[in-house]
Amino acid sequence: MEFYPVSIEKLIEEFAKLPGIGYKTAQRLTLHVLNLPGDEVNEFAQALVKAKGTIKYCSICGNYTDTDPCAICSNPNRDNSIICVVEQPKDIMSVEKIKEYNGVYHVLHGVISPMSGKGPDDIRLKELIRRIGGEIKEIIVATNPNVEGEATAMYISKIIKPLGVKVTRIAHGIPVGGDLEYADEVTLSKALEGRIEL
Ligand SMILES: [Zn+2]
Repeated sequence: MEFYPVSIEKLIEEFAKLPGIGYKTAQRLTLHVLNLPGDEVNEFAQALVKAKGTIKYCSICGNYTDTDPCAICSNPNRDNSIICVVEQPKDIMSVEKIKEYNGVYHVLHGVISPMSGKGPDDIRLKELIRRIGGEIKEIIVATNPNVEGEATAMYISKIIKPLGVKVTRIAHGIPVGGDLEYADEVTLSKALEGRIEL
């Protein structure tokens, strides 16, 4: 590791801090950056600084935004009576990609996880409850289909249903192109649970 000058080693270290990047990949990224023309490197650095400086959370839904409220919350064509609850801003991108959902969102920024000491007060649940009012008809809970995501969904349902709002959960099951033979028990039982009439 002492083959590189300090400034290169420092850049490798910074890349290696990114999620999913190991030392070897960080090394490859660093050498790639060093081979770029100066103005491209400058643009890259500026983009990092600018994003960090201007991006904030939407005060309504908690999504990343550079305007407040965000483009989705302030879009008059979106249906404000349906809120899709997700764990992270990136989950909004996933739902938006399918271009079928026209409601609004709420980002929890985490899930309830007793194992890591995260309770209901550590995620944006109070903010969700505050949004429940006359206009809201349905809350779609789209947390991940794992133990913590399910527990969070149950908790949300328990506190919001008494407020007279319909709470639904996205269905989980066999992926398209999947095979029943290879589905694990949880997936198969969720698929059965979420069956629909034909
Ligand atoms: Zn928003």
